[in-house]
Formats: sequence, C-alpha cells, structure tokens
Amino acid sequence: MFAMRLFRKGRSASVQAVAVLAALSLVCAPASFAERTRLKPGFNMYSPQQDVEIGKQVSAQAEKELQMLNDARVDRYLDRLGKRLASKATGEAYPYQFKAVNDMAINAFALPGGFMYVNRGTIEAAQTEGQLAGVMAHEISHVALRHGTNQASKAGLAQSGLGALGIFLGGGGAASTATLIGAGFLANSVLLKYSRDAERQADVLGTQILYDNGYDPRGMSQFFEIISAQSKSGRPPEFFSSHPNPDNRSARVNEEIEKLGGSPGNMRRDSAEFQQIKRYVSSLPKPAAKKPAGSTGGGASGSGSGSVPAPSSTFVAFQNRLVRLNHPDNWQRYGEADAVWFVPEGGAVKNAVAYGAHVSLFEPHDDRYGQITLETATDQLVQELRESNRNMRVAQQHERIRVGGYRGLSTVLSNDSPLGGRETDWLVTVLRPDGLVYFVFVAPDRDFDRYERAFEQVLDSVRFR
Ligand code: ZN
Repeated sequence: MFAMRLFRKGRSASVQAVAVLAALSLVCAPASFAERTRLKPGFNMYSPQQDVEIGKQVSAQAEKELQMLNDARVDRYLDRLGKRLASKATGEAYPYQFKAVNDMAINAFALPGGFMYVNRGTIEAAQTEGQLAGVMAHEISHVALRHGTNQASKAGLAQSGLGALGIFLGGGGAASTATLIGAGFLANSVLLKYSRDAERQADVLGTQILYDNGYDPRGMSQFFEIISAQSKSGRPPEFFSSHPNPDNRSARVNEEIEKLGGSPGNMRRDSAEFQQIKRYVSSLPKPAAKKPAGSTGGGASGSGSGSVPAPSSTFVAFQNRLVRLNHPDNWQRYGEADAVWFVPEGGAVKNAVAYGAHVSLFEPHDDRYGQITLETATDQLVQELRESNRNMRVAQQHERIRVGGYRGLSTVLSNDSPLGGRETDWLVTVLRPDGLVYFVFVAPDRDFDRYERAFEQVLDSVRFR
C-alpha cells in the first residue's frame, strides 16, 4: 500500500526536529539495579483525548470490515481479563474495551484509546491463559505508550491538523479522517505499524503488567516463540506483519523479570476458565473465507487483477494549481488541493491504494540559500516514503526523464501490495518553484504491464502551471 498521501505540503520544516524528539523519546530511562524499566510515551502531536476519539472512529470502521465473533460469553471473558491487565498499565487511564474477531489468523490489535481486537485464532492457538494474557498485555502496552499516534505524529499526520486528513475519501470531517488514518487498518494503518523499538517497549511494559497481575510474564515470550516457530513452516502469522519480531525477546523479558524481583514461583500460568473458553471457541463454526486484504502473500493472487478493470482508452482532463493532465475516464479522483489520487474501481483495498496514480507536492528540507537539486530533493522524498513504508525498496535508481518540457527523474520503488504480494511504485519527480512535484503510479507487480501504458500516457499529458 502506498502511504504517500500522508505527506502534505508544509510539514517539512519541523521534520528534523520531530525526528530528533522521536529518537530521544525512544530511549528508555536507564534503570538502576533491580528497578523496573521506566517507559514513557514518545513524541506525540495528539492529546490523549484525541487518541480516544481516533480509536473510537477507527474501531467503528473496523467493526464494519471485520467479521466480529459477536459472542457475549467470549467478549465478556476477554473484557474482564483485559481490563484486569490494563488496570496495571502505566500512563493514561484509557477506556479499554476488548472484543473477539471471527478470524482464524493468529493476530490481535489495539487502536489508540484502548479498543482492542483479539482474533479467535489467537485464543485457539494459546496453550494457557498466561499466553493469551501475554499478547493482550503487549497490545495494552502499545496503547499505554501511545505508539499508534506516536507513529502517526512521526509520519507527519498531525502536521496538517486532523481536519485536513479527510483528503482521501473526499468527504471531509472527522469520520473520514479516522478512516484515512485507519486505512487498511489491519496490515497497513500507520496506527498499527510499530517499530522494533516500540516492540521492545511493549514487551517490557507487557512484562510489568503481567507481573503486577500475578502472571508469569514468560507466557508472553513463549507465545511469540510458538507462533514464530510455526511461521517457519508456513505462512507468517499476521501478528508479525504489524509487530516486527525483535531479537532476544525472551532474554529481554527475563531481564525485566529480574529487575522486578525475580519470579516468585507461584505465578499464575493458566485458568480453568480459559480452557473452557478455548474449547468453546474451537467448537464454534469456522468463519467464511477471509477477505483478501488482510492476508499475506500469494494466496490473494489474482483477486485484485480480476476485479480491477483495464484503464479506459478515453481520457479526461484534470487540473489543479500544480499541473494539468489527462487520465483514463474510468479512474475516480480522490483528494483535493495538492494531493490527488486517480484510482480505478476496485483499485483501493480498505482505502489503501493498490492501483492508481497520484500527484502531490513535497517540500524538500530547507537547504542553505534555498538551493537544492532535483536529485537531493528526490532522495529526501524517497527516504521519507520509506520511513512510512517499512517494506519499500528502491528497485531502480534515478533515471533522467522529461516531463511537460522539464527535467525530471524516474525512480522505481517496490513495496508490499495491499492485495498481497509486491507492487511497483513508479515515482517521477520534477522540481518546481513550489517544491518537488511528484507522481506515483502504482500497480501490483503481476499486473503492472497492463497499466504501464496508461501510466505513460498520463505522464505524457502533464503540463505544469
Ligand atoms: Zn507489538
């Protein structure tokens, strides 16, 4: 998916300051001997109240898109266990709530403000309550440490204010804001893409939460190891697509247990209630086949290309303050002002763009005397894109190209597609008085050929204003 839309004009001035702040805040306060590690939320441009508002809106959207289990008994159990764990979390007292999702994939996620979803696959895969509590304590820690809105802040989302985030859905207003930043919320949302540092922090705070609740925190690292081992023999659990598996997980958990005073030996590992719930969940009818967007890898192959129509040969004109161009008339426009997407029907999956073209403006970081080369500005843009698209790679470095009579650069990027597999993101940049005007042409690798000609025609039609 292409998180390009996150970049808005006018954010670059503070980018470096933000990066410094973020780096500082990731440093855990040094713990003196036998004292628990103290963790604090990092840089954040949202208030804790906004965490709750955003979480509430994205969760409403999530519940429409997910197959919820809707089983009062299971939800009650999760909610009770979760609230008990959350009562020992540090920081803001968020209104936590916990619900089960009717999905066999081993996954769980928590939105800002404490809206947590646990897949039935996680309940069925956990051997003990301690392991389930481990996953939940880890998720609670992401909420308490405000990692979601920290990521959003770092991505520059807050820069343009909440209101300006409605660009993608065009409707504006708070609802589309939340939809936007929750876009592709399972695998792709910036709210749920955690860094390895965030993972380590969530393990440490998770250890403390479990310990303070009387659970053996080793259940958490055990469970991550079990599912990681499973993944070596097949598809990686979805969990790791948003929670990168840090090294030495169990060692770090054990280290924290020592700081907390060591394992007292009578720590809780399991409960009869958990085993009953697990048996009960396993007995429920299996969910219908999963929607492709949340899945990883080749299984979804073809599901997009079949349903996304070929570009129409009839082109229509578009213009904004930056450019004039023509695009196939079966591509719909989204966005406004300087950031516009052109997307074929079915080309957006859970609001992440899998097929389409984008034109936008990037303000290069300040350079002395306002001098900056096209190459440097392009490198800065690519670097920023890669920061919000963890699996993005440069497939082909700059090549010179002419766009609307001006010198431009063509760069080919490769990224995860929201449809599974990889996508090609063809980036074209041109330096203009307002900043770096850039175009991105996106299609899954397997289907790029079918779209390439239309992409070239769009680019050939570009005139600068
Ligand atoms: Zn995590």
